[in-house]
Amino acid sequence: METGCIFCDIAHEKTSTELLYKNQHLVVFKDIKPHAPVHILIVPKRHIRSVNDLTEADQPLVSELIMTARDMARQAGIHESGYKLVFNVEHGGGQMIFHLHLHLIGGWVQQQG
Ligand code: AMP
Ligand code: ZN
Repeated sequence: METGCIFCDIAHEKTSTELLYKNQHLVVFKDIKPHAPVHILIVPKRHIRSVNDLTEADQPLVSELIMTARDMARQAGIHESGYKLVFNVEHGGGQMIFHLHLHLIGGWVQQQG
């Protein structure tokens, strides 16, 4: 746990943020400033700065983040309409919170045809 890291605080339930899901390794909560009708963040409990800081040993964790995102998409009812999974990496990649997180974004109105 990193002092001053908002996602560490949320992951360790030191804030009032409502968790949609949690397990031993990760937590899931709604993005405070959603970019789409469904915008959910999947966040490891352990403080990892970004994708750049992942190691080989983190492969099961990365897999779990993605599989949890898939499950949350199904739960939110957007698995058939589709969605984006996004890791922003460092300043140039648009990362603003330097605690690894996976964005699940979707729920836009379907275009016909
Ligand atoms: P990124 O640009 O990839 O670092 O994304 C960080 C995301 O975290 C942004 O979409 C923010 O809206 C979101 N965010 C920041 N603070 C909070 C918070 N306290 N609770 C929920 N989402 C947050
Ligand atoms: Zn952190």
